[in-house]
Amino acid sequence: MSALATPSPRPPEDRCPGALRAHRAADGLLVRVRLPGGQLRPGQLRVLADLARVESDGALELTSRGNLQLRRLADDASVRRVADRIAEVGLLPTATHERVRNLLASPLSGRDRAGRLDVRPMVRDLDAALRGAADLASLSGRFLFALDDGRHDVAALGADLCWTGDSQVLWLAGTDTGLRAGPEDAVELLIAAARAFLRVRGDRRDLWRLADLPDGPARVTAALRPDGTAVPAELPSAPSGSAPAPAVGLHPGGVLVAGTRLGRLTADQAELLADLAGTDEIVVTPWRSLVLDTEGPDIVGRLATAGLLVDPASPWLGVTACTGRPGCASALADVRRDVTGALADAGTAGGAALPAHVAALPVHVVGCERGCGRPAGPAVLAVATGTGYRIEAGGTSRPGTPAAALAARAERQK
Ligand code: SF4
Repeated sequence: MSALATPSPRPPEDRCPGALRAHRAADGLLVRVRLPGGQLRPGQLRVLADLARVESDGALELTSRGNLQLRRLADDASVRRVADRIAEVGLLPTATHERVRNLLASPLSGRDRAGRLDVRPMVRDLDAALRGAADLASLSGRFLFALDDGRHDVAALGADLCWTGDSQVLWLAGTDTGLRAGPEDAVELLIAAARAFLRVRGDRRDLWRLADLPDGPARVTAALRPDGTAVPAELPSAPSGSAPAPAVGLHPGGVLVAGTRLGRLTADQAELLADLAGTDEIVVTPWRSLVLDTEGPDIVGRLATAGLLVDPASPWLGVTACTGRPGCASALADVRRDVTGALADAGTAGGAALPAHVAALPVHVVGCERGCGRPAGPAVLAVATGTGYRIEAGGTSRPGTPAAALAARAERQK
């Protein structure tokens, strides 16, 4: 059982950042650019790289929802300049709905044969339908849609509303309440379900997500069924557990997946990816990697030289971290610096005495008890305490260091 504390009571207003509503972090203003389905054109990525250099700290942050963030903006004028530039290149097509365009999609959909269908056109349709629905602007910036092409990757990432291309089920906060739609009707059903959520929520604007609503899946389903059709009592659960991220490296057909170190993409790396992608779309994945179609000599080597992750054995792929110091005022440690040091030390540090069944799990390092950004599925947590770190794993909690947790992982994987 995790000893992480319950988050403090939430404010009634959702303060999730957007491109027009910056978050005032400890290290400056932070803006988030929504990318439905993670989709991005190379020219758009170039503009973001330029903004990262001129307005931010020289890098873009990839989020667990396949969005991008710029941090350390100096002031409101900088936020406006960023908004103007991204609007010029089509990354801010709406002012009213920009924070609600939270839409995951299977990142390799249409690029390999693992899915049942190509959901990319559905992403565009759902985004357009969402932007066209004035009432849905009142969804919170945390409400999440997902379109899974049947491989059950993004279906395991905790969306409020998720349609899957194999069973054609609409999962409501991970529950199958019997709602079904074919690909041609799925967008309409998703929009109707989002509206039903708002109706059931009423004026409780502090209920940001479907899981916040008591009996949410059943009540939303009932609201979608005006004839009062009974909700089936026993139905299977949505796919859960650790979602399979697409492996980094070159895939058949010239599809390339490049990982990032702790979700940070430097402006130089972004420009290299934009150059290699040519005119084809790039996808930012919820696993903080990028997908592009590319061919040519020594592509993998060029990306590796630029510091991107293209070797599936890279130790960087097994570790994630929250913001930590200096970006978060609550942080008790500079977790990213500590992770970098831990990876350097992991070869010499003794492994933490972790139970064998958890020692190979991903390691997530956090700066305080809130435990932000914890990955889906089981993980070892390294929690800063102010005097060091505590390692939580497999129901146990003991003093330790990120280096020891990573060394244990490396040992277990040999
Ligand atoms: S877990 Fe990390 S990002 Fe979240 S509040 Fe604590 S220090 Fe900040």
